[in-house]
Amino acid sequence: MIYPNVSTEDRAIFREEFLGRLPGQIFDSHVHVFKKEIFPPEYRPPEKSCYAKFGGEHRLEFCRQMYRDLLPGIEVKCNCFATPDPQADRAAAAALAVDNRNVFGMALLGPDDSVAELSPLIEQNRLVGFKPYPNLAAAAAGKPIREAQLAEFFSPAQLEYIDAAGLLCVVHIPRPGRLADPLNQRQMVELCEKCPGGQFIFAHIGRAYYMQNIVGNLKDLAQCPNAWLDTAMVNHQGVLAYTLEHFPRQRIIFGSDAPIAWLHGKSVEVNHQYAYLMGEDFRIGSAIYDSEQVVRFAPFFYEQLRAILQLGLNRTERQNLLYQNAFELFQRTARRLYGEN
Ligand SMILES: [Zn+2]
Repeated sequence: MIYPNVSTEDRAIFREEFLGRLPGQIFDSHVHVFKKEIFPPEYRPPEKSCYAKFGGEHRLEFCRQMYRDLLPGIEVKCNCFATPDPQADRAAAAALAVDNRNVFGMALLGPDDSVAELSPLIEQNRLVGFKPYPNLAAAAAGKPIREAQLAEFFSPAQLEYIDAAGLLCVVHIPRPGRLADPLNQRQMVELCEKCPGGQFIFAHIGRAYYMQNIVGNLKDLAQCPNAWLDTAMVNHQGVLAYTLEHFPRQRIIFGSDAPIAWLHGKSVEVNHQYAYLMGEDFRIGSAIYDSEQVVRFAPFFYEQLRAILQLGLNRTERQNLLYQNAFELFQRTARRLYGEN
């Protein structure tokens, strides 16, 4: 395990900007947790993948150590799932050490997985739901990832199971147009309507990391009572503020997308697009690496919290967004499925 790189400067950010302003508890609803054993022995993450930095895995103990290092004195609860790589063994990836008090978990799901295979993964591991992903849907359909459609993420039988059991799903919408894509818009609403018993958490605010992608595009989704948004990797104040104004606040939850969030960098809007300015030489989507070390970066995790703190929310509103909304959803679901914990 490689020791986290929390620098003296990072510690100063916590002291000067976060201490006393963050709530005493945080719920991180979007964390990738997995051991390298879920992959075939010959599997190696790509050299510039952020997982390479952490030895090709992101173990729960390591993640909790990072929470303690980055947020000393704050109690952090989380919802975790493995990295949605088609090469991961989905049964092994579902063996997450959840307790449904501090740690909740989800199984990866491809549209070809039968309910007979999936339901024991959920029940035996005491999980609260699923993490589908565009590349798992694309692999099943035998098409390139950019052509995957949301309507192909789940089979009808899977949706029946999710609906009947009342499971949660963290959904990373596909297609280059993201939240602004009309087909995505339609299929997001259809998914929520088709499966009213499920709760659908659209990750990264529907991947709308810049203003033009979000403005005008939350209207229909906001009407779906089982649609939620997580803020994972969004550090754009304008996007966050717009979301809070145009989507029911009690259905917006914080997520970090760790371990990517442990890296030093910041997402910035550039000419109606966005780029990850990277302080470390890893490739995460549209990354621009500061090889000359022109500026000093904070971890993405801190940039996300910073943006939330700069929204001018009062104490209760901050606590709801960073903890209460998600904790209530996950606790309620786990209790219904598995009883008191
Ligand atoms: Zn993620």
